[in-house]
Parts: sequence; structure tokens; C-alpha cells
Amino acid sequence: MGLMTGKRGIIFGVANEMSIAWGIAQQLKEQGATLAFTYLNDSMEKRVRPLAESLDAELILPCDVSNDDEIEAVFKAVEAQWGKLDFVVHAVAFADRADLKRPFSETSRAGFALAMDISAYSLVAVTCYAKPLLNEGGSIITLSYLGADRAVPNYNVMGVAKAALESSVRYLAAELGEQGIRVNAISAGPIRTLAASGIANFRKKIKLMDDYAPLRRTVTQEEVGKTAVYFLSDLSSGVTGEVHLVDAGFNIVVSA
Ligand code: NAD
Repeated sequence: MGLMTGKRGIIFGVANEMSIAWGIAQQLKEQGATLAFTYLNDSMEKRVRPLAESLDAELILPCDVSNDDEIEAVFKAVEAQWGKLDFVVHAVAFADRADLKRPFSETSRAGFALAMDISAYSLVAVTCYAKPLLNEGGSIITLSYLGADRAVPNYNVMGVAKAALESSVRYLAAELGEQGIRVNAISAGPIRTLAASGIANFRKKIKLMDDYAPLRRTVTQEEVGKTAVYFLSDLSSGVTGEVHLVDAGFNIVVSA
């Protein structure tokens, strides 16, 4: 018996085998979970479908989280297939590269709104459609980063979006607690992924981890995945509204 045996859930945010969502999916499967996946668009489907099939996914659905109709369609399909579900993984973020390269004060109005919509509001929208289908004891997680509460160089508008995301976690946790549903965030250290490639000087962030993090390295997708199993399983049944750092201890030794 795995920690996730008998639990069914959906994962938003696999782009390829480097994705943090993929690390999470593998750990959930290893613990016995039954999985559904979404992919952003047709070009992503080519990569995501074979990965999802390799973990015996029961649903593989398109979903651009900026579109409410697509989110609604996903949960209608989940209801038709499973009736209810036990967990949701939200591992989605986006900001215009141009806005990440400019000084923060020059962030465009449209770019600010876009980053907030895809990277923060989408958790609220996904939770709204998931809420009626989640079993008591259900759990939702999202992915954040230290740039939510520190001014991390080059993270800029994405840091502001992560701050909104973390605050949304607390408000959603406060609301859904009565239904016995928990909402938490994992704040991961820097990991080389497609999304990370949009952050200027990302390599420097990894180097800082190697030099200063107590564990003298950054973290892996697998380590984030193992923490996700904790938050999505009954191991964390008393924990909600938390932003949990998985950052090799970097936060405790580096102040900026
Ligand atoms: P990734 O590129 O593998 O995943 C980002 C995902 O967001 C992709 O699957 C992409 O298709 C999806 N996405 C973007 N716009 C979308 C939209 N409109 N609708 C639906 N999906 C959309 O990169 P990742 O690093 O694994 O990112 C996953 C999460 O982890 C993000 O929230 C990211 O901010 C967070 N995070 C990443 C790091 C890191 O260093 N890589 C650190 C901390 C937190």
C-alpha cells in the first residue's frame, strides 16, 4: 500500500520531463495515486501525452488556465470519469520575458496583468471548479518561490505574482477548511526548467545555492515531488494555508 493508494487527482503544469510537475507526478504514482494531466496547447500535447501515458494517466486534457471555459471543461471531464477527486496540483506560471528583462519599475501594465492572471489567479479559478468535486480530506498544492517575499534579482513581476499566489493560498485554505479541504504551497529552490529559462542569470541562482545553501546544492524535482506526497497525502492532515520551503536551507542563511 502506497501513501496515495486509492487517491485520484489532476496535475496542471507538465511541459516536459524537466518540469517540477513531472517530478511530483512520478512520486505520486510511486505511492499508488491515479492521475489525470492537463497540457497547455497542441504543441505541448506531443510532449505531455507520452509522459502521462507512461504513468497510466486516466485523463489527458487540454487546458489554458487563462480560459475559464477550458478549466470548466477539464472538471466536467473529471466528474464524468471519476465522479469525485482527492487532489489538485497547480504548477503553472507565466510572465512575458520582456517584462522579466526590464527594470521592475518599467513592467508593462499588460505584462503585470498577464503574470498575475496565469501565475496567481489561475489557482483561484482552478480551485473554484475543483471545489464541488473534491472529497473531504482533499488537498490542493501550488508552487511558489522565495521571490514572493524577497526582492530576488531578475524575478521582478513574477515575484509579485508569487506573493499574490501565496496570499491566495491562505484565503483559499481559510474558506475550504470547513469542507475538510486543505490548500498549501511548496516554495522550491531554483531548478533548471523551461519556465526558469525565462529568468535572466538563472545560472547564478544555482551557483549561489552551491556556495551558500546549507546543503551546498539546489533541490531536485524528485525532492519537491516527495514533499508534494506529504501535502497531498494524509501525512499532512492537520496542515493547511502553509507556504513550505524546499530550498536546501538557502532561506536561513542568505538575506538577499
Ligand atoms: P515548467 O516550464 O516545466 O512548467 C510551467 C508550466 O506552466 C508549463 O507546463 C506550461 O505549459 C504551464 N503554463 C504556462 N502558461 C500556461 C497557461 N496559460 N495555461 C496552462 N498552463 C500554462 O517550469 P517549472 O519550473 O516546473 O514550473 C512549475 C511551477 O514551479 C511554476 O509555478 C514555477 O513558478 C514554480 N517554481 C519553479 C522554480 C524553478 O526554479 N524552476 C522554483 C520555484 C517555483
